[in-house]
Amino acid sequence: MIGTPHLVNDLVVYPVSPRLAYVVERDCRIELTTTPESCTCCTFRFNFRHKPGFRCRHIAALRQVLGLP
Ligand SMILES: [Zn+2]
Repeated sequence: MIGTPHLVNDLVVYPVSPRLAYVVERDCRIELTTTPESCTCCTFRFNFRHKPGFRCRHIAALRQVLGLP
């Protein structure tokens, strides 16, 4: 799992440790740094202020790759 890129829907999830992954959108060149609880995308940063525990689709994809609920 770790160190291998995974395709999840339209996202490429590349876990570098059990707690950290790089996520790239297929149609976008921006590389995001994602953990099971946080993400550097603007959707997460905007929503997290209002909804603690919010999961953007990058977090959801990473949790799927890591086998987390
Ligand atoms: Zn995100």
